[in-house]
Amino acid sequence: MKTFGAVEAGGTKFVCGIGSGPDDLRTISIPTTSPHETIARTIGFFQTAGVELSGVGIGSFGPVDLSRNSPTWGHITSTPKAGWRDTDLAGALARALQVPVAFETDVNAAALGESHWGAARGLGGCVYITVDTGIGGGALVEGQPIHGMVHPEMGHLRIPHDHGVDPFPGNCPFHGDCLEGLAAGPAIQARWGAPAEELPADHQAWPLQAKYLALAVANLVFVLSPERVILGGGVMHQQHLFPMIRAELRNILAEYVRAPALSDLDGYVVSPRLGDRAGVLGALALAMKR
Ligand code: ZN
Repeated sequence: MKTFGAVEAGGTKFVCGIGSGPDDLRTISIPTTSPHETIARTIGFFQTAGVELSGVGIGSFGPVDLSRNSPTWGHITSTPKAGWRDTDLAGALARALQVPVAFETDVNAAALGESHWGAARGLGGCVYITVDTGIGGGALVEGQPIHGMVHPEMGHLRIPHDHGVDPFPGNCPFHGDCLEGLAAGPAIQARWGAPAEELPADHQAWPLQAKYLALAVANLVFVLSPERVILGGGVMHQQHLFPMIRAELRNILAEYVRAPALSDLDGYVVSPRLGDRAGVLGALALAMKR
């Protein structure tokens, strides 16, 4: 059996793994410091593993350049993260390890991982959204991760914002009250004065949060027609959000979109089955796919 390398490149840590699937994947975590140090440690992990790799897959925080024919393919591009702007991540690994490297957004990779081994197994189309310190989304359509011109930025969807109900102005540095500005972890903290995990299940934060996420999911259903929607990230550890989101989604869709999958929203809007390993397993799936 072939062995592959996987890198989930995140803003706070790089999760690196070696294996051929969920059962034998062994991982380590490297803190995200400077590009020089973090990439050197990532390369070191693979070089000292004593395993011949058939390829490496990377799912990276972004924005990133996914265009194969671009001179900056595999780079992290215009990120606000200090020191990481215009960093050649894929190229550095390819040169040091001398193996084929596949490169994706972290959320497209997670969608791919869930479709290989997790909550969207056997489905050609799914959306994966992470609600955490930011909001990001990836999607597979007919089995392929969506890139488009750059790559989707689902976290910055514009959704209706009733200032009478929710006077919080939103805290996205670019757009104010986009989805991320209204519903990511820092917005919850700023609006209610406490992080999501400290708010009780009957707090008024949750109906509002469910409404915002359901609006975003509905928009994605209208645009991409996914066969399943997977909601992950730290905020979605609040499991009581799921039934609230499904109820809101049912109202918003208003029986206009008709599909067997939508008759059972419990099975349509779900948690990642790979849990916090969706990203690194997605990077592994990416390497294998290539
Ligand atoms: Zn925004």
